[in-house]
Amino acid sequence: MVQFDGTQQAIQLIDEEKRFNGDVLAQFKEWVGNRDVGLNYHVIAVFGSQSSGKSTLLNTLFNTRFDTMDAQFKRQQTTKGIWLAHTNDVNCVTESNERGSDLFVLDVEGSDGAERGEDQDFERKAALFAIAVSEILIVNMWEQQIGLYQGNNMALLKTVFEVNLSLFGKNRNGHKVLLLFVIRDHVGVTPISSLSESLVSELEKIWSELSKPAECSEALLTDFFDLEFVGLAHKLLQPQEFENDVKALGDHFALENHSSYYFKPAYHHRLPLEGWTIYSQNCWEQIENNKDLDLPTQQILVSRFKTEEIADEAFKNFSANYHENIDPMIDDKDKLIAAMKKLRESCLDEYDKQASRYLEAEYMEKRQGLEEKMVSKFTVTVQDFLTNFSNCLLKATRAAIEDRSSNKTFAERSEVSQSSTKEKFAGVVEEFNKEGFISSCRELTSNFENDLLKEVEQLREKEVTAIMTRAKKTITLKIKDATIGLLSHPELDVWDKVMEMFDSTIKESIHKFMEANGDYDFQVGLSNEQNEKLVRQIYHAGWHLLNVTVHDYLKEDTVVGILRDRFESKFRYDDSGSPRLWKNEEEIDQAFRVAKEHALEVLGVLSLAATSDHVEIIAKFDDCEDADEEFYKDDVGIYHSKRFAHILNEIQKEKVLQQFRRQINVTVLDSKRSIIKSTTS
Ligand code: GDP
Ligand code: MG
Repeated sequence: MVQFDGTQQAIQLIDEEKRFNGDVLAQFKEWVGNRDVGLNYHVIAVFGSQSSGKSTLLNTLFNTRFDTMDAQFKRQQTTKGIWLAHTNDVNCVTESNERGSDLFVLDVEGSDGAERGEDQDFERKAALFAIAVSEILIVNMWEQQIGLYQGNNMALLKTVFEVNLSLFGKNRNGHKVLLLFVIRDHVGVTPISSLSESLVSELEKIWSELSKPAECSEALLTDFFDLEFVGLAHKLLQPQEFENDVKALGDHFALENHSSYYFKPAYHHRLPLEGWTIYSQNCWEQIENNKDLDLPTQQILVSRFKTEEIADEAFKNFSANYHENIDPMIDDKDKLIAAMKKLRESCLDEYDKQASRYLEAEYMEKRQGLEEKMVSKFTVTVQDFLTNFSNCLLKATRAAIEDRSSNKTFAERSEVSQSSTKEKFAGVVEEFNKEGFISSCRELTSNFENDLLKEVEQLREKEVTAIMTRAKKTITLKIKDATIGLLSHPELDVWDKVMEMFDSTIKESIHKFMEANGDYDFQVGLSNEQNEKLVRQIYHAGWHLLNVTVHDYLKEDTVVGILRDRFESKFRYDDSGSPRLWKNEEEIDQAFRVAKEHALEVLGVLSLAATSDHVEIIAKFDDCEDADEEFYKDDVGIYHSKRFAHILNEIQKEKVLQQFRRQINVTVLDSKRSIIKSTTS
């Protein structure tokens, strides 16, 4: 047989002080190296009275190096405790060049019958531990002990049965242990078959006398144990036969296709080797603290711990590679998705490979946790991608809305681009969502739609501002000129005309920006209410303008000028528009009276803005800068200004009259002087 690792020194798994060896994991790593052993390993323990050649057997069978009592110095004591050795090298008849399974062998060193007492405790604990962690328990005994009901041996078997019931009685789960009786110094006179018969009846007797828990009072010995019997020749007297017997025994441990290969799946504790040390340590601690050892719970605890450890490691590797794999793909959606998929797959592969060997429920639970952790990392990446993507989308949408080359209105353009943009964004989000790369897509989508709405709102505002500026510009030019034009040559109904011009100018400007049907719609997709507000704003702008124009223009001097104009045109020209030639003073006085009356007809009109049916004109504003009594606010919050109509007060009118009179008097005097001149010359 090829020696793979050489025979290795055994280590003390549990020492004399009953302490568990904390370095055992490091030792495992040394034994196993980088090989992935997984579930493909076995644990064997040995039991039997002191100095019955147990360690000698193990060393011969498994090529281990447990301490043995030296034959020459018989009473030299080996070190107490539970010892552990590793082998790939079973001594067998059929030699193979292949490496055997990894076997872990537990050797129990108790103390001699002489000094028992407190050591019964150790024997019992050792038995519990051996059964909790191993698949095969070798029960080592001398042939002479069989049928003698020797107390020592019986007590040991009773212990084994009892602890086994305490471990598996409640929750057997089909688990079994193989009890391999190795009969030493088998002379051969009594065949193994009859020895085993007496052993079985001995065992049945012990089993029947055992006080069993209620749940398994009817249980049979064979529900819990498989039994095998092997005889070995006397090592010292028949060394060659002993060697051959051991090799034949070895075949049962080494050859998986052997008709009675010892390791059956029902014996295995279904924990990968990486979990075994924690499991065995937990078991020992519970035993040592005299707690009920609950194996299924132990398996769950180990599975939980290990799957978490594996998941953490897998996530660590995932994170370490994350940025270098993902960052270069951030601008290309398809490549990004492919890279994310690949990373996730390799992370899950890594996890599955090791963790799937632990209990299903724990394995699945941690797997889900691992996936969630990956998703939260992916989500950040997807958000980064979407930030870029949405910026591009918004830019394109803005360009499409601002593109006036089609004859679509703003409202139509924004409607169409908005819905196609939303669709595009939702489509991309769905691609990530479908792969499970984001935890929730609703928030992402609604955030984007808000941004989009804000963007469109901004564009709309810009559009509205532009429309309003244009509208105000057209009315400014028209209202100012037309008002001054009308007021500079007033008739009695001048305010009717001003108002007519005012209304039509504003309506015209509004209509220019509204649809032909005249509804309040500025074609920018505003609500009726917003449209009405804009119309009101244009009106108010008009009113402000009219107010300023009228009051700036109709100052006292201007009014005097207008009156004088009106006077002069009546006084100096006849009805057909020809200049008058005065014949005498009466004629002048007559014309003067008529012209003066004619001129003064409009003083009232210019002092108070009122329609021809004597209704004062009231201006309407959205706001008022100084809220004096001349403003009043109506139900809809519009300020009505009475001040608009009141252009000249009584004192001002008096001043106008005075100046006007002075000036026309001069005109009359001049006219009279011209007669005198013409008569005297
Ligand atoms: P353990 O205490 O059960 O581990 O026993 P050891 O393996 O240390 O051996 C105890 C003594 O028994 C040693 O002196 C061995 O030489 C001796 N011994 C080993 N194998 C045999 C055997 O097959 N037959 C007999 N009679 N003695 C053996
Ligand atoms: Mg020994």
